[in-house]
Amino acid sequence: MGILDIVPAGVLTGDNVRKVFDYAKEHQFAIPAINVTSTSTANAVLEAARDIKSPIIIQVSQGGSAYFAGKGLPNDKQQASIVGAISAAHHVRLVSKAYGVPVIMHSDHCAEKLLPWFDGMLEADEAYFKEHQEPLFSSHMLDLSEESKEHNIATCVKYFKRMAPIGLWLEMEIGITGGEEDGVDNTGVDNAALYTQPQDVYDVHAALSAIGPNFSIAAAFGNVHGVYKPGNVKLQPELLQKHQLYVEEQLKVKGTKPLYLVFHGGSGSSKEEIKTAVENGVVKMNVDTDTQFAYLVGIRDFVFKKKDYLLTQVGNPDGADKPNKKFYDPRVWVREGEKTLVERVKEACKDLGNVGRL
Ligand SMILES: [Zn+2]
Repeated sequence: MGILDIVPAGVLTGDNVRKVFDYAKEHQFAIPAINVTSTSTANAVLEAARDIKSPIIIQVSQGGSAYFAGKGLPNDKQQASIVGAISAAHHVRLVSKAYGVPVIMHSDHCAEKLLPWFDGMLEADEAYFKEHQEPLFSSHMLDLSEESKEHNIATCVKYFKRMAPIGLWLEMEIGITGGEEDGVDNTGVDNAALYTQPQDVYDVHAALSAIGPNFSIAAAFGNVHGVYKPGNVKLQPELLQKHQLYVEEQLKVKGTKPLYLVFHGGSGSSKEEIKTAVENGVVKMNVDTDTQFAYLVGIRDFVFKKKDYLLTQVGNPDGADKPNKKFYDPRVWVREGEKTLVERVKEACKDLGNVGRL
């Protein structure tokens, strides 16, 4: 039995999201969540998922959302990030059915100061729910990990009470992902904050499970955003097992791995680290840095290789009157970036065991 026997193709909401994560947990694989910034990158992700017959998670960051709407729009009140995220969700909703793959449409890190962005997306979800009995997105992330634990959990509870009734999944973060991504700089935080404690995870689980079952936790186990030379922060995915065991013990549900865990800052991790994370209940792994680079590679190589065909509209090494339109048409050179992105998404899926799952 594959995933399409359990859920339909297209953007999933409500319990269908949990069904996919349960299936992944049961079959010991995880689904990569790829950050997109445009219809071009979103389509490439869908193409990869279709080719290898697997579900996929598409996500937009706050900055990626603004880019989706256009860098020319003002964003002082998150207005571009709101409309861009909504635009991305509508686009993915429309085209994902044509690709025939189940998609979890997610929004990435939202820190305290970005909550107006979250509010705007949530209002769009509620409006969509009124018409269609499901939210526009599948899932949103709240990241109050820089705040106190109490404030973090209270904020998640407040929002989850609004999200759960309309079928939205909540991802939250406790403990801090190091490094720098999308303008959030955690390169200077204390090392201890980079490893979440089991009691903290249990406190989150207790507070959110009282509202609904559809939530996941990004617990920090030495994760760092971006790709760096090896430093003194060591990834310890074996810590995730401690969280599962601790929560199992509190709930008296031995051997059930009750937590849905999320792996942030996975770029550059070894296959062994990924395997350990998945064995310990990681169902979603974020991939951004590596796919950003992959999108560039195809375009970069094309421009280098065809340089002499790209300098003028007419005239190239084949003749002074030869037109260059078939080289500078964006459908040609942007497509080259899409092709290398497609391959990198497939690789991320393979690393996580997310192949042939439909
Ligand atoms: Zn992250």
